[in-house]
Amino acid sequence: MKYYCDACRKAIDTDRCPVCGKTRLHAAEPDDLCFLTEKEQILSGMLADVLKQNEVPFIGENVLGAGVALKVGPMFERVRFYVFFNNLSVAEKIVEELFSKGGENTDDN
Ligand SMILES: [Zn+2]
Repeated sequence: MKYYCDACRKAIDTDRCPVCGKTRLHAAEPDDLCFLTEKEQILSGMLADVLKQNEVPFIGENVLGAGVALKVGPMFERVRFYVFFNNLSVAEKIVEELFSKGGENTDDN
């Protein structure tokens, strides 16, 4: 059973959020938007492609404001990905396979 902190937009294993300390979280609903991962611009494009290929709807949010991005350049821009709780486990698997350092992946199913 997963809980959902709507302040942090994260799915969590306990009903107390470890990030903001919020308690009595509600159970995660299929359409709760959950934080997936944060990637730099280049990698985020790759991840977006794979999510699309797997028909996982997602929202990408630039971490830096537009003004900051102009100053430091788009190379340093980072993107946060959010997916619906419904798709979270699939999306996490995709992230894991794309960015795992080990390389060796056992494919069950
Ligand atoms: Zn929280």
